[in-house]
Amino acid sequence: MAESKQAVIPITTPMVNSYIIRGDKPILIDTGLPGYDARILQSMEENGINPGDISLIIITHCHQDHIGSVAAMKQKTGAPIAIHKADAEYLKSGGNPPLVPVGTKGKTMEALSKMIKKPVVTGLAPDILIESETDLAKYGVKGKIIMTPGHTPGGISITLETGEVLVGDLIFGGLIRPAAPGFPYFAASVEQLLQSIQKVLDLQPKIIYAGHGGPFTAQSVRRRFFK
Ligand SMILES: [Zn+2]
Repeated sequence: MAESKQAVIPITTPMVNSYIIRGDKPILIDTGLPGYDARILQSMEENGINPGDISLIIITHCHQDHIGSVAAMKQKTGAPIAIHKADAEYLKSGGNPPLVPVGTKGKTMEALSKMIKKPVVTGLAPDILIESETDLAKYGVKGKIIMTPGHTPGGISITLETGEVLVGDLIFGGLIRPAAPGFPYFAASVEQLLQSIQKVLDLQPKIIYAGHGGPFTAQSVRRRFFK
């Protein structure tokens, strides 16, 4: 069988996306809302991936909708959890890194999130604290973790040799047109966010996968943010 040029398996749901990177060993990126473990396991089965083969769980940032099923997925895969140091405290204790709204949609979402007051408390300490660029070769994937703060202080992205980049919530898909890139509803720093988006574009990615909506072409992202 010819080797696929695409390493990323999207696990998309209307609310939030997770991803599996197929490598010599697979890596899971983000875990969705509570209860998404069944959906993730189903995708693994459909793609012939044994949960026990997962070498690493990477959390792109510690918002509730990305860590909801992390405890269940750790239990089912036995894989270590990697998260940036700046977002790590929220993994164990629950809650979100500061939600600083961007625009009116962000303000609406902030109000909504205040009404939903049952934070995911995983009780899990991260196994691997990311502080700088990290090669994923030892986890069986040709690629690396890069620092892309802005949405949260500890936002990270994953760039692969295939030209695929996974950016978490650095860029949001539109609600009506999911493939149209836009600002996330929240950003700890818009200035950092734009610098991180530029950093991703400098990689000349073939395709950009996001936590909500997407995927995006580099061209559409450049047009949206820099022209
Ligand atoms: Zn987020």
